[in-house]
Amino acid sequence: MKLEHIGIAVKNLGASDLLFEKLLGKKSYKNETVEREGVTTSFYNTGESKIELLEADNSESPIAKFIDKKNEGIHHLAFGVENILDEIKRLKKEGFQFISEEPKEGADNKLVVFLHPKSTNGVLVELCQEKA
Ligand code: ZN
Repeated sequence: MKLEHIGIAVKNLGASDLLFEKLLGKKSYKNETVEREGVTTSFYNTGESKIELLEADNSESPIAKFIDKKNEGIHHLAFGVENILDEIKRLKKEGFQFISEEPKEGADNKLVVFLHPKSTNGVLVELCQEKA
């Protein structure tokens, strides 16, 4: 596994894009809405790993709920894997809990699944696999 990206929950993607463009000295390479998750994302290349900014599109979005509880900040760590189904099997055997049973389509051309933070020391962990 390698750290594929770090997800950061933000209140206003436009304002945060300006901030991160200044911080990183580059523009985001992709803006993408994932309707099913109720989020709009913005991605930055930062060497080996990326930064993903996430803004809620509605009050039911997991990002809206996160910001209500914890305010803006680091939302998840995403690890890139070769075969997401094998990794789910392996990690379930190791006793990890998942938020959903099946991987689904995420942003940035990925299949994604999330581990429940109660089984990972309070950190929301995403596994992602590049779609063929
Ligand atoms: Zn992510």
